[in-house]
Amino acid sequence: MTLDELSAYFAGELSLGERELGRFRRYLDLLEEWNGRMNLTAVRERGEMVEKHLLDSLLATRALKGTEFRTAIDIGTGPGFPGLVLSILMGDVRWTLLDATRKKCDFLLAVKQELGLTNVEVVNARAETLPKEKWDLATARAFSSLPMLLELAAPLLTVGGHLLAMKGPKGEQELLLSAKAMKELGVSHVSTFKESLPGGEGERMNILLRKCARTPRKYPREFALIKAKPL
Ligand code: SAH
Repeated sequence: MTLDELSAYFAGELSLGERELGRFRRYLDLLEEWNGRMNLTAVRERGEMVEKHLLDSLLATRALKGTEFRTAIDIGTGPGFPGLVLSILMGDVRWTLLDATRKKCDFLLAVKQELGLTNVEVVNARAETLPKEKWDLATARAFSSLPMLLELAAPLLTVGGHLLAMKGPKGEQELLLSAKAMKELGVSHVSTFKESLPGGEGERMNILLRKCARTPRKYPREFALIKAKPL
């Protein structure tokens, strides 16, 4: 898929003009350049990058339609999916791009600078060490199991804030297994958006959740414990 085809795919839905497409082009140029030196993504073919990274990230906007947020954090953003892609589209939202790996943050900083993204802050840290109740929205793609993500994300959100968990075909099953974690953390399910990447490239499930109450202070627990004994 080309960038023009991407723009046509979202015609009438998203305004992907020259400004956005130019930034996407430069972003992918940098991703290709840096990928030669360090392994940022296994997806190496340009058309595939557009589809599996840009288009997939942009599908998040369907699940987020009607949800209001001024601050957003992408947890485990890696090379910037979906957070960096969405930050290009949502200039009035302050985006925090969070990743525990230094080299990924170095890449994100280079992209931020090259593209002049003033609404983006890159943070090299672990989710469990961040300040609480600071963000209206948290997103995460290909991050961890849903109960683990819930425990890491819920404390970061303001009450009434949303979490968008971007999952594959097993998303629904994970949601069923997360009932206990959701109850314990005061999070409820809002909606699930099922999407298919064009050309049979995969089924996606974007799950929107809402933090309804303050998170008990004992969360998040230490990462080793979250992992060993998920909620
Ligand atoms: N969201 C990206 C990357 C997914 S890979 C995509 O969809 O392509 C998961 C990323 O999460 C890795 O880059 C890893 O460094 C980061 N990560 C793992 N545990 C983390 C934690 N506790 N806090 C912050 N980042 C974490």
